[in-house]
Amino acid sequence: MNVQETIQKLNELELQEFAYGHAMGILSYDDETVAPRGSVVPRGKTMGVLSELSYKLSTGDGARKILDALKEHYDELSPEDKRRTDLREKRMRELRAIPVEEYVAYSELLNEAGNVWREAKNKSDYKLFEPYLGKIIDAQKRFAGLVRPDMDPYDYCLDQYEEGLTQEKCEAFFGTLRAHIVPLLEKIRAAEPIDDSFLATPFPAEAQRELSKKLMALEGLPEDNCILGEVEHPFTTGFSKYDVRITTHYYEDAFLSSMYSVIHEGGHALYDLHSDDRFCFTSLEGGVSMGVHESQSRFYENIIGRSREFVDLVYPEIIRLCPALAAHSEEELWRAANVAKPSLIRTEADELTYPLHIMVRYEMEKAMIKGDVKTSELPQMWNALYKEYLGIDVPDDKNGILQDSHWSGGGIGYFPSYALGSAYGAQLLHKMGEEFDVKEAIRTAQIAKISGWLEDRIWKYGSLYKPSELMEKAFGGPFDPAYYTDYLERKFTEVYGL
Ligand code: ZN
Repeated sequence: MNVQETIQKLNELELQEFAYGHAMGILSYDDETVAPRGSVVPRGKTMGVLSELSYKLSTGDGARKILDALKEHYDELSPEDKRRTDLREKRMRELRAIPVEEYVAYSELLNEAGNVWREAKNKSDYKLFEPYLGKIIDAQKRFAGLVRPDMDPYDYCLDQYEEGLTQEKCEAFFGTLRAHIVPLLEKIRAAEPIDDSFLATPFPAEAQRELSKKLMALEGLPEDNCILGEVEHPFTTGFSKYDVRITTHYYEDAFLSSMYSVIHEGGHALYDLHSDDRFCFTSLEGGVSMGVHESQSRFYENIIGRSREFVDLVYPEIIRLCPALAAHSEEELWRAANVAKPSLIRTEADELTYPLHIMVRYEMEKAMIKGDVKTSELPQMWNALYKEYLGIDVPDDKNGILQDSHWSGGGIGYFPSYALGSAYGAQLLHKMGEEFDVKEAIRTAQIAKISGWLEDRIWKYGSLYKPSELMEKAFGGPFDPAYYTDYLERKFTEVYGL
């Protein structure tokens, strides 16, 4: 095969892989949103069949020949095709190391585990979920050993979500965060408390749905390519730059929960919707890593969404939809939306205590993968860490270890990317601020100006660069968590008048 033929074959292969991913993704989305509870068995079978076909497609002789030809012509390839080759080689090594029966069994296990986790969470009964979590941990350890016997197993897990992230980097990063967040929280505890009780003012779900529409329009999400579904635990699924699904949930006594979920998931969607056209249906389409993804979603949620300027911007719409809130000013709403207070639930946590929730999960995952703790002891460990890091008591497993869906989906190693993404976001804000007045752009509803900047520096590149390369290009230098700790100190000093 010459270079042209090889690339032609590669395009065909990646289109087929895209199609399997698309079909399985739709099934998962259906499962999470509207499928009846009884659909778990047939969906498991279909998922099993599709994942086996997709596994064979990606690891079979055809794929192998294409990879060999790509490597043979490597020096003649464009930077895009070099990256596709590298990604393909990494993926091939991973898949071929795991026997096909185990790969299929794992996919079926995850389908079942997701359903059991939901039931366990509803009943607040960890015992139901425990055997599944045990099997998922065992599978992750085994896969790590098979794919990268040279690597620490938890480093392998971290690398799955953020290429190049290691425990060494996490320890340094979390150490820096704790050194700034803990004293800042002490000061806040001693300061005048902010009244946020009015945030529980009943806000009908129907009115919140209308608010969601406005927020999506303000964020610049195209109606033809992005829809909003309703689920227990909000998430985003991007099938291609033409079809991204975001989700939320409505609590009538906590409207900010949905408001910030919509803005957060909208940030993920924007990233997925703006890969360069030439990457469509290839392995370069869509976001490069979870860390970079979270840097975008959390940028919209916190840096834009919880800014004074943004609250001012959406305030008229909020009081139009919920007139009882008009008794409180824009400034009161902004402060209430930024109350920093240790709490039980990560997804509802404020911007300052949020990283502490991540550190709990990081410590848990490290111990799970090292085998330092029995699965039966995990809830006690969770509760003890919440006491140590956040100073609060966990009343039950529903509000404790069962609150997140990640582990039931095999997502061990995912959480640190949330904290890393937040820190990336603060450094992006700094860089953006050297070029234009970000606050002014928000104040004047020119979110498109901010989005245009991010599209140009991040989104359009899809997965072309490694996460650290992409971010360093955007920052114009190395990653430095000081931008994040400075941002937090500046912001909370203002919110609390410290
Ligand atoms: Zn997210």
